Order: sequence, then C-alpha cells, then structure tokens
Amino acid sequence: MLLFPRSSQCVQHQGVPEESGPQEAVLGGTQGSREANFTRGRLLVLTGPSGVGKGTIVSQLRQRHPDLYLSVSVTTRPPRPNEQEGVNYYFRSREEFLELIAAGELLEWAQYAGNFYGTPREAVLQKLNQGQDVLLEIELSGARQVSQHCPEAIRIFLSPPSFQELERRIRARGQDSEASIERRLQQAQKELEAQDEFDYVIVNDDLEQALLQLETLLYPNS
Ligand code: ADP
Ligand code: 5GP
Repeated sequence: MLLFPRSSQCVQHQGVPEESGPQEAVLGGTQGSREANFTRGRLLVLTGPSGVGKGTIVSQLRQRHPDLYLSVSVTTRPPRPNEQEGVNYYFRSREEFLELIAAGELLEWAQYAGNFYGTPREAVLQKLNQGQDVLLEIELSGARQVSQHCPEAIRIFLSPPSFQELERRIRARGQDSEASIERRLQQAQKELEAQDEFDYVIVNDDLEQALLQLETLLYPNS
C-alpha cells in the first residue's frame, strides 16, 4: 500500500550553480511513467542540527528495517576516527567534489561548517526505481533543494529537547574541534528556526520514544 501519493516528479538538473546546491534537483528525470512511479520507493529526508541524534536514531531504525537504504554522501570533511570510506561517507578532496557537481552527479549539495556535502544521485535513483525506500540524512539547505524539486519527498525534522542539551550532546560526542562545534551550534540556530518547513517534527528527548515515533510514522503497519 502506498502511504504517500506521488503528485509530481523531480526534474533533471542542468548546469552548475555557484554557491549552494542545484537550483533544479537531479532526481528522476523524465523516465518515470505512472506505473514506474507507483512501484517506486519513498524518498525520505531526515534533517536536524548536528548532535541532535540523527545518526544514532537512523542506525537503530535500520537495524529494525534493514531494507531501508541510507544514502552514503560525499564530503570534503576529513574522516572521524571511527568512520569508514564508503560506509559513513565517500571522503573526497574539494577538487573532486567540484568535479562531481560539474558532472551533475549530485542530487543536492551544500556547504556546511566549512566543508562540502552532497548526495550521489545515481544510487538514490537506482534504489527508488527498484522500489526501495531511500533515506537522506542531510542538512537544511540540501533538504530545501530536495523539497523544492521533489515535493513527493517526506521531510522529517529531528529536534533537540533544548539548545543546551544539543550543545551537551555535541560536546559529549567528542568528535569535533572547538571551531567546528561553534560553527555547528551557529548553524543549529538557523536550522531550528526552519523546522516548521518540514512535514513532521520529532523531538529526540528520550531516544526510544523518538525512535518509536519515527518508526510509527514510516511503518505504521509494523
Ligand atoms: P547527529 O548524527 O545528529 O550529529 P549523533 O547521532 O552523533 O548526532 O548523536 C550525538 C550524540 O548524542 C551521541 O553521543 C549520541 O549518543 C547522543 N544522543 C543521541 N540521542 C540521544 C538522546 N535521545 N539522549 C541522549 N543522548 C543522545
Ligand atoms: P557531519 O559532519 O556531522 O557528518 O555532518 C554535518 C551535517 O551535514 C549534518 O547535518 C548532516 O546531516 C549533513 N549532511 C551529511 N551528508 C549530507 C549531504 O549529502 N548533503 C547535505 N546537504 N547535507 C549532508
């Protein structure tokens, strides 16, 4: 059963924008027929400030729903000690990232806290066309690009119980430099102000509760 009707298709991106991600998204092209759309997977977007718990909640959701495909992004950020190439991210140089943009290989992209991040288009398209649900865990600008051109996407914002708790979590994670933490917290203010743009807002106070809310939203029959 389709829970969310697909009202439109994303359009093909042409050209390279200068400062932020694609002005026109890169998903779908013109190949989707009505039938193809009906069997396509759902495009799910999860956004929220750094440190709110997106990675934690997504990893638990995927343990319960292994069919959910988590898009692996490309980034120019250096790997954290526990991160693996091709698992957490594709780690690329700035030059390589710009080439990906120029080649139209990114569904969306953005600059965040001094680095580039982007979603490889092909893998997402392939999984959607195979009928698999695809989850993008991306920041606000990328989410806006996706929603502008892929209105069928289901957009969820994960919010912290308070700004103080968000800061506590980023620091407790112990993975970012002080400068990066400062930039992330500044960005968090803007992201929190934009949460009403999303289809759903889930507050990640108690982790189990938040996970249950997300699961109920995405898999109401399970
Ligand atoms: P994000 O992916 O949004 O940047 P993480 O998943 O890395 O955030 O979580 C940041 C930190 O907060 C981690 O140390 C994680 O264990 C912790 N955390 C996540 N959710 C909760 C929660 N509900 N309560 C307390 N700590 C949490
Ligand atoms: P981090 O450096 O903590 O892994 O990620 C920083 C931010 O970039 C997070 O908000 C994360 O969701 C976002 N992000 C990760 N991958 C992408 C991507 O492909 N596109 C966009 N726009 N944001 C991303």
